[in-house]
Amino acid sequence: MARPKNVKHIFVTGGVISSLGKGILSASLGMLLKSRGLRVAIQKYDPYINVDPGTMSPYQHGEVYVTDDGAETDLDLGHYERFLDESTSQSSNLTMGRVYKSVIDKERRGEYLGATVQVVPHVIDEIKDRMAELAKNGNLDVLITEIGGTIGDIESLPFLEAMRQMKLEMGDRNMLNIHLTFVPYIKAASELKTKPTQHSVKMLLETGIQPDILVCRSEKPLSREIKNKVGHFCNVNDLDVIGLNDCDTIYDVPLLLLKEKLDLRVLKKLGLKKYKEPNLEYWREFCNKIKFPEEGEVTIGICGKYTEYPDAYKSILEAFIHAGASNNVKVNIKLLRAEDAEINTFNLSKELEGVSGILVAPGFGDRGIEGKINFIRYAREKNVPFFGICLGMQCATIEFARNVCGLQDANSTEFNKRTRFPVIDLMEHQKKVKEKGGTMRLGSYPCIIKEGSMAHAVYQKFLINERHRHRFEFNNTYRNSFEESGLIFSGTSPNGELVEIIELKDHRWFVGVQFHPELKSRVQKVHPLFHGFVAAAKAYVQGGRQMELPVEQPSFMPVENEAGE
Ligand code: GLN
Repeated sequence: MARPKNVKHIFVTGGVISSLGKGILSASLGMLLKSRGLRVAIQKYDPYINVDPGTMSPYQHGEVYVTDDGAETDLDLGHYERFLDESTSQSSNLTMGRVYKSVIDKERRGEYLGATVQVVPHVIDEIKDRMAELAKNGNLDVLITEIGGTIGDIESLPFLEAMRQMKLEMGDRNMLNIHLTFVPYIKAASELKTKPTQHSVKMLLETGIQPDILVCRSEKPLSREIKNKVGHFCNVNDLDVIGLNDCDTIYDVPLLLLKEKLDLRVLKKLGLKKYKEPNLEYWREFCNKIKFPEEGEVTIGICGKYTEYPDAYKSILEAFIHAGASNNVKVNIKLLRAEDAEINTFNLSKELEGVSGILVAPGFGDRGIEGKINFIRYAREKNVPFFGICLGMQCATIEFARNVCGLQDANSTEFNKRTRFPVIDLMEHQKKVKEKGGTMRLGSYPCIIKEGSMAHAVYQKFLINERHRHRFEFNNTYRNSFEESGLIFSGTSPNGELVEIIELKDHRWFVGVQFHPELKSRVQKVHPLFHGFVAAAKAYVQGGRQMELPVEQPSFMPVENEAGE
């Protein structure tokens, strides 16, 4: 396949151990290059055989990040969007499963007729074609590709071979490898040790790839001597050995890399001469607000069933960091295990002492549902700010049905198929769906907002677009009677058929949304619902009975257009 010549490629690989932050490194570099005036996109290649992570448990994979065009993807894409302020898409995440599926489908269609279909060349060629896809479609100067896994893993070898071939074909001026490694600090010797990095580079060399730039993650800053040593043994100019020591917040990483001149080294190596000085004032202001908020702190309780593994709620946690900065407060998070609240002896008010806002998280299946309902009842009755996302909104509906409307045993048919009051039910078009992968209601849909509602006060507009990932919905049979009992349907699909936002009349802040607002919160565009919720929690802490409306927008939040983009 023809590759657009003017797009420069950067591949980010990882060595020594996982979780060093390849995603944050890719996102930060992308942000720096964009702020220098380049058009940048980032994509992620995952070595597993699942076609996408949509069918994996959050315990395995963390959150599933959904794009506007409805792809279920790796959570690193969330970092790309939050840092780069560009939307990703279906083509931004490729798994080995998708590669093999496409090769096998082609084989069945007879596209390789006569040939023995093999990893080399067929699988490798398929990867190379896919690698060029975003470069071909987008208006791009630079495409960053993050390769999942760690050098030495058997399963990512085909990605590395494709990368090696591409580099040979494109030349060093058009393609770079940035290798992220680890330089451990050994306390007993009071020393940073470079040997693991040397070994990891050796392994990379075995695949035929000489890294161009090494980014060394370490607990302590790398001295000039250490950089020289790493450069010397890894065959890299010591100016291309970049130190990345642990930061207070991931949002500091671009500033640290700027100081280490990573972006300048990249521009030089790729022969990109025309660029402007980056203006990162707003980013610095944002980091300052995270680290030194001036208006106190709030504690938000997040109730879910994957609380042992916070990566399952990655975008929610990041959205709270954004909203903390925009409200000038520190947001402490208390993870509340839903199942705990199902036991009779569980003391809700003790558990929620000091909590000034309760969020009930998205999820699937019936584990912990009754606990979530108990937390919601507490928030409703005690007038504590409440925010329900997707399953959280559905649980709020069930709670309202049971405890306000007196529909005992009301439920979602997801948890009880034979409930007498199915207030949440499978969406009509889901009833015929049999296959699991990629078959939910996925991606961005418009929603119309009711005038005078809390949702309108928060968004300050009548038409929004938000991303979805669900099969169940509010059952319209109950719409009128619930409205009479004080539930407000403040957001619906444009034809009025699907309930997208609910809220309560006489409550300081009680909002449930069928969509996932956390996926659209960015440093540059703090999500209005998270901003509003934290503002309500702040007002609650400060003892005000009623928060002021409309919610003031943060000063560094650019005004969105009517389409919500
Ligand atoms: N399980 C619910 C549904 O499928 C909620 C999904 C979610 O929270 N993302 O509708």
